Amino acid sequence: MSPDLILAGAGLANALIALAVAERRPGARILMLDRAPGPSDSHTWSFHDPDLRLSWHRRLAPAIRCRWQGQEVRFPDHARTLRAGYASLDGAGLARLLEETPGVTLRWNAEITKLDSGSATLDGERIEAPCVIDGRGAAPSRHLVTGYQKFVGVEFEMDAPHGVTRPVIMDATVPQQDGYRFVYLLPFSTTRLLIEDTRYSDGAALDEEALARAIADYATDKGWTGHEVRREHGVLPIALAHAAARLWAEAQGGPVPVGMRAGLFHPVTGYSLPVAAQMADVVAAAGSTTAEVFAAVRAHALARAGDDRFLRLLNRMLFHGCPPEHRHRVLSRFYRLPEPLIERFYAGKLTRMDRLRIVTGKPPIPIRDALPCLREAPLLKETP
Ligand SMILES: Cc1cc2nc3c(=O)[nH]c(=O)nc-3n(C[C@H](O)[C@H](O)[C@H](O)COP(=O)(O)OP(=O)(O)OC[C@H]3O[C@@H](n4cnc5c(N)ncnc54)[C@H](O)[C@@H]3O)c2cc1C
Repeated sequence: MSPDLILAGAGLANALIALAVAERRPGARILMLDRAPGPSDSHTWSFHDPDLRLSWHRRLAPAIRCRWQGQEVRFPDHARTLRAGYASLDGAGLARLLEETPGVTLRWNAEITKLDSGSATLDGERIEAPCVIDGRGAAPSRHLVTGYQKFVGVEFEMDAPHGVTRPVIMDATVPQQDGYRFVYLLPFSTTRLLIEDTRYSDGAALDEEALARAIADYATDKGWTGHEVRREHGVLPIALAHAAARLWAEAQGGPVPVGMRAGLFHPVTGYSLPVAAQMADVVAAAGSTTAEVFAAVRAHALARAGDDRFLRLLNRMLFHGCPPEHRHRVLSRFYRLPEPLIERFYAGKLTRMDRLRIVTGKPPIPIRDALPCLREAPLLKETP
């Protein structure tokens, strides 16, 4: 096969690109190469309904594992049910969808040892294509300064119905530890429950067993007993400062970076599905060479990084303007804001009025602590 498009990595960003390109350019030969032996069962990719356009709801529908009406947040001083629907995809569903998509060839066990703007090299095999996209997952960049969202999730089959009827996006009534701590619950059935313990922390070190024990304690506290069926963990970047133009200047001349390695994620949550869907539309509408796609993706990414400046400021106030044990107060205040604003926040579509609304009123942190957080340039200077 001589492909029109090589997608290096068959993770989330490239999966969405494959779906969008296959639909927009029927007949295009898309080759996806991934070193993993098969679809990941160590992921659930969730999103809020308003995060995605209708075309993406339609495209992803066959890969949805579970869908819910509404979601909850819980804080020591208030709790709230939010109306927005929520849904989760998994690796198996996404791989099934790709395998059924005409034009897409998915090769597992395909470790790429060299990648450039016109080819991918595997063990003893070189494959050429006019367009090469690099979606091989997160890669550290000195142009992106981050805090961390660290988590461990354990999926349980409970011995009896657990009684959770909708996703609990944040249960921050738990003792605060290692920064802002909350538990996230996804009820996949009346007895199947994902319990995830999350920390917004300064350091990237993840003590998986300690978090797993904290999850077991949380379950015991709720009176749930059952057995573990699956586990996932992650250390996601929370963007504090981003020199996007420098990142893209370094990538010039190579394959087109996408996904986490291109800094394309929601700065505050570290989630990337909505951004990946938007970027997949950009790729599908761009030309068919690496240079054309690079130019379109770069322009979109730079515009986005500019728009995200405000979210990075919020992160700096959360991580640098607030002692770790007080971070939950900022989030608690945020979740008292009007629901449409919260929905636009997750979708990355805050208006000017929304931004004003977030920072006015009783400040989440004292002004004197907020002032040193205003500029992001000093953080970038610190990077080697
Ligand atoms: C456990 C977990 C849960 C998450 N949950 C959510 C969520 O609910 N919602 C959300 O929006 N975001 C979520 N995220 C954050 C983010 O969306 C994911 O990390 C997402 O998978 C990133 O997409 P990506 O395409 O950039 O990278 P990945 O999905 O990580 O894909 C990279 C792929 O490249 C392959 N690869 C790497 N190197 C090579 C190589 N040399 N040769 C061949 N293949 C290679 C890997 O095997 C992998 O399949 C989660 C992250 C984690 C870790």
